[in-house]
Parts: sequence; structure tokens; C-alpha cells
Amino acid sequence: MKQILNYIDGCFAPGIRQFADVNPADGTVIAHVAEADARQVDEAVQAARRALAAEWGHLSVRERAQRLYKVADAIERRFDCLVQAEVADTGKPISLASKLDVPRAAANFRVFADLIKVSGLEAFQTQTPDGVNALNYAIRKPLGVVGVITPWNLPLLLLTWKVASALACGNTAVVKPSEETPATATLLAEVMQEAEIPKGVYNVVHGFGPDSAGEFLTRHPDVNAITFTGESKTGAAIMKAAASNVKPVSFELGGKNAAIVFADCDFEQTANGLSEAVFLNTGQVCLCAERVYVERKIFDRFLEALKKKAESLNLGWPTDATTDFGPLISAQHREKVLSYFQLAKEEGATLVAGGEIPEFGDARDNGFYVQPTIYTGLLESARCVKEEIFGPVCHVAPFDWEEEAVAMANETKYGLAASVWTNDLKRGHRVAQQMSAGITWVNCWFLRDLRTPFGGVGLSGIGREGGVHSLNFYSELNNICIRL
Ligand code: NAD
Repeated sequence: MKQILNYIDGCFAPGIRQFADVNPADGTVIAHVAEADARQVDEAVQAARRALAAEWGHLSVRERAQRLYKVADAIERRFDCLVQAEVADTGKPISLASKLDVPRAAANFRVFADLIKVSGLEAFQTQTPDGVNALNYAIRKPLGVVGVITPWNLPLLLLTWKVASALACGNTAVVKPSEETPATATLLAEVMQEAEIPKGVYNVVHGFGPDSAGEFLTRHPDVNAITFTGESKTGAAIMKAAASNVKPVSFELGGKNAAIVFADCDFEQTANGLSEAVFLNTGQVCLCAERVYVERKIFDRFLEALKKKAESLNLGWPTDATTDFGPLISAQHREKVLSYFQLAKEEGATLVAGGEIPEFGDARDNGFYVQPTIYTGLLESARCVKEEIFGPVCHVAPFDWEEEAVAMANETKYGLAASVWTNDLKRGHRVAQQMSAGITWVNCWFLRDLRTPFGGVGLSGIGREGGVHSLNFYSELNNICIRL
């Protein structure tokens, strides 16, 4: 059986015990994962401290950028192997992993290598009280050792998004990938070796959250900052753990994202866009729309079009190139999604599509599939409309007025993403600017330029990453004032 190891100080290391890595498409165990204990997490942190002092923290920006380009090249050389590992771990369709996850991992290293070379900081001339000039300028310094904790939905993409920017700023990293999807973090260690990244710069510790590698890392006094993507309640627990050492945190958390569809939209483009926004990656993207508000004039027609899209999705083996909809990540997560399907019934929803476990008559019946699901008819106060489900499901509700749609979309404790679908340019801008969200798309969804700010408001997160915003989080600014 394949072993997935920790990576500490440039060496692959077994753990204190092993846990199973399960393929969500058929429930089979595909690897044994080495769980790190507190001592190994400490070893990884100390290795990262040494690497910071030895070389990485002092490299010139140009040298560091060159190394990161080599990592991107090495990711591309191992493209097929990374795609296969990601598909086996997550159950996502191979078409998605090869178009999105792995290309983005390489792009993450290139983008931050490019950015760190051009991110100039301002300088100011200031007059001193005795009339002499002083020059102020700021330099970026690494924060130190960054603890990186990531979820299972886009494992390599989200991990490299954080690791690339942390390393670009001269930090070293200890990463704790999700216990559900450990494979690509360890493969990235092989990539780092191939790219000759010095030992200790990138370390991997496998394990779980509370009282395991995740908590050991967040509580470690020699970790200088924590960057985390995952559930809002986990973010709250990490914030408490990080508080005792006053560590800076960057949090990308959950969402209950709204889409607003106006009658003047491009109907076909919007139906296609929304089908993607609801069902991509089996609805397991933090940006997925779980609440769809449609102007009443086109409500019935739009609901019918979305139902057709849902029913035409090809639920298949993730490794099949024609599959566009795979399983949920785990049996436990499927239980959670199914409990919301049950709750929707109890709350009085009308089922439009799906709502069941599909039957295949083969080994996929041991996997964790559910059907693409659409509900309508719930009150805005229903739990299914309020709480993040994180599955392939949305609730569609009608509206009559723009103000009403904006109010319903913003009636949430989350605020990660929104989308607005209209051909009225002024309305597009007007509504987008009123959304309580970190990102609002108009007539598109999930179109990401890595230089733009990314993050959420409310329960959806703290801070922004992306472009210079990542550099601002992952570096300490040191202002220098010189009397001239
Ligand atoms: P999760 O919060 O359960 O786990 C995420 C990571 O945190 C895992 O590695 C886990 O082991 C670790 N963890 C759990 N408890 C911990 C603790 N007490 N201390 C330290 N580490 C701990 O999230 P998940 O189920 O893996 O991912 C799904 C969630 O992630 C959804 O809520 C989704 O919206 C969110 N998400 C957000 C974004 C974003 O950019 N905002 C992106 C992807 C996913």
C-alpha cells in the first residue's frame, strides 16, 4: 500500500501512527498517511527556523524568484502524477484537475515570483522640526515561519496559493494539509527537492485538527503567522490558539454565496454560468452559489433551464474524461449534505431536481455521490437558506425589485462571493457595489486574476490575499527614517 509521509528538514519521515486515505469515488483505501505528533511538528518548525536564518530569508529577491520559477517548472514536469493524485484523493473529475487545480499550482509560484520583483514601496521626504529634510522608506522583511493549514476541496491549488506567496516574501513554511487529501502536499515536497529548494524551507506535517498536527502548529510559539483556509468555526478555534502569542492570521473561510439573476440577462449564458456556479466540483468550492435569486418575470423558465442543466450533468468515475460531476469528499460529508436534504423537506421546500443518492450498479455505489439538487419555496429564514451546506445544492427564490434582491442576498452572516447577471451595465455596477462580499462577479463566476484581492467579510474571513495583498500579509514592513 502507498505511504504518504511527512516532510521535515528535507527528509521524508514516518509518523507516530497511520491513518487511511480514502478514494471518495468507491470508498477504497488508497494510501496510509503518516500522522505527525507534537514532537515532529516542533522538528518541522525548528527546521523552518534554521532554513530562514541559513539562507532563504537572506536571498536576494531575484534569486528567490528564480527558485520559485523552478518550482513552477517542476510542477509542470510532474503534471500527470499530480493530477492523478488529486483526482484519487478528492474524487474531482480529471477534466477539472487538469484544467484548474494543477495549472493553478504552477501559476501560483510564477505569479508571486513575478510580483515580488516589482512590488515597489513608497518613499516620503519629511521635514524635521529644525527644518532639515528626512527620507522615509520602507522595506519588506519576512514574517518568519508561516503555518499553513488547508482544506480538502482544492488541495494543491489552495496550498500553493499560500506557500508560493509566503516563500516569495522570504518566509519558510510548515504546512498541514487536510487529512482527507494529503497526497499532493507530499508530492510537492518531491517537487521542492527537484527544484533545489533548500531543506527546511518547505515542511509537511500530516494529521488532524484538534489535539493533532493542526493544533500543535497553531499553538507553536515559534510559528510567526498562521494562514488558514477552511470552515468558519475552525477559524474561530485557530484564532483562539494563535491569540496567546499574538500571531497574525489570514483566514479564508466559509460562504453562503448569492447569485442575482435579472430578467434582462443573457439567458443561456446565465443558465450555463449558474449551473457551473452551483455544481462545479460537486458544489465544494467556497465560492459556489447556494442561494439563487431570480427576477419573477423569468423565474419559471430559469428554474426549468437550471433543472435541465442539473439533470444533464454526467455523474461518472473521476478518471473518465467525460465526467463532469464526481462524489462528495467523504462518507461523513455526505451525511452532512443528506441531513440538509432531509431538513429542506422538513422546512417545506419543493424539490426541483435531485435530492437522492444516485445508483450506478457498480463500485461507485460504495463511493460518496449525491445527485445535483435544486430546491425552491423555502422562507428566507430557513436553515437551508442560512447555513453553508458545501454540496451540489442551491435554493432558488423569486424577487420583484432590485432593492429586494440586494436585501435578500446580503441577509447573511457570511460574505465571500456574489454574482450578478444582467445586461444593464449601470445596474451591474450599482448592484455589485452593494454586495456584502469580498468578490462580486458580473456575468461570470470564478474568473480569477491572481493579482486581485481575495477574501471575505463577516464569517467568511479576515484579510485579503492575492497580488500585493498577499505580499502585505506575508511580509513585515520596516520603515526607515534617515535625517539628510
Ligand atoms: P475544516 O475547517 O474542517 O478543515 C480545514 C483544515 O483545518 C484541515 O486541514 C483540518 O485538519 C484543520 N483543522 C481543523 N480543526 C483545526 C484546529 N482546531 N486547529 C488547527 N487546524 C484545524 O474545513 P474543510 O472541511 O477541510 O473545508 C471546507 C470548508 O472550507 C468550507 O467551509 C469552505 O467554505 C471553506 N473554504 C473556504 C475557502 C475560501 O477561500 N474562503 C476556500 C476553500 C474552502
